[in-house]
Amino acid sequence: MTLQKLMEHSFSLYARRNRVFLPSLRDRIDYLNLAIGDLQDAIRKEFGRDVLGCAVARIVSRIFCVAEHFWNLPETSGAANPFVIATVRKYPRRCSYCGQSPCACSERHSESQLAQHADPEQLQWTLRQWCAHLDHLYGAMNRKRGLENMLNRLFREISELSSLAMKISRLQIRRDQIEDELALELADALAWTIAIACVLGIDLEDAFTDQYQEGCQICRCHPCECTHFHWEPMDWRTFNTSS
Ligand SMILES: [Zn+2]
Ligand SMILES: [Zn+2]
Repeated sequence: MTLQKLMEHSFSLYARRNRVFLPSLRDRIDYLNLAIGDLQDAIRKEFGRDVLGCAVARIVSRIFCVAEHFWNLPETSGAANPFVIATVRKYPRRCSYCGQSPCACSERHSESQLAQHADPEQLQWTLRQWCAHLDHLYGAMNRKRGLENMLNRLFREISELSSLAMKISRLQIRRDQIEDELALELADALAWTIAIACVLGIDLEDAFTDQYQEGCQICRCHPCECTHFHWEPMDWRTFNTSS
């Protein structure tokens, strides 16, 4: 399924829940942060593929939850979502830093050159195509870096998102003034999540559809009708992948 379709599925599943339980941008960023902590925990405790697949799929779902705060807009229906556009501009066919494919960046790289226009074909890419693309560009380097480094990079992206959210609330910056920046940070968060899934050998699109295709992970309804919200970090020992 295309990235946009997966996201729209997620929007229709969780928009109501998000409004009720996660009304603010910062709630949603915290919620995303929790899912990354849960993945780190599952990796550290060496849980199996079912748990790891679920853990990475939850991160994608919560990236969409942040995106939903901004871009679940009726006037954009049918058009490419700003988050998808940002992902295409930040991750074109060649590395946006060194211009190579695969990437040949050194550890300290120069400023990225954002593509001026989003490649229309890439806008239609499935999540599986995105995984293959990013693994081709960055997979070898990521495997050298190791999972811990990649998790750190993903946490760092969340810090950057938090900083933008603080600017909106403290500096009274209008959110549309930094929407582009937010979309790009969110694209980076997705790229690191994909990178981690690839290194773990998980098919992220399958993992996501396994978890969310039929409805909410918890109440199994579409849209979600959960009346209770779980803020606690996940205890993977009690997690049942067939439930
Ligand atoms: Zn590069
Ligand atoms: Zn639910």
